[in-house]
Amino acid sequence: MTVDGPACPACAGRQMPDHPAGWLAWRHSNLCALRDAEDARHAADVDLAGGRVTQRPATTTEMSLLSALGHPLPRDLTTRLEPVTAGIIRRSWSALETTAAATTEGTTP
Ligand SMILES: [Zn+2]
Repeated sequence: MTVDGPACPACAGRQMPDHPAGWLAWRHSNLCALRDAEDARHAADVDLAGGRVTQRPATTTEMSLLSALGHPLPRDLTTRLEPVTAGIIRRSWSALETTAAATTEGTTP
């Protein structure tokens, strides 16, 4: 709890590493442009997923935040959407998961 996680490149807010929504749950400031983009994307993802697991191309905002987490980004990155509850969609990137294995505790295979 005393260790600072990675900072948002726009507002310096911190990642919430254990959040059910996945890697891109951050404590953004209210004025963060990435937060606005992420909020809009989340609303679109709720419609897109419609309660089912689906996929779409990663957004530039997701790329920025994933890069801030230290992931080397492939040219084409796919975001997997997995509805967890009515308000939470877990996003994951299978192409990056091997790079996260060393830093993420694997509680869910
Ligand atoms: Zn931010």
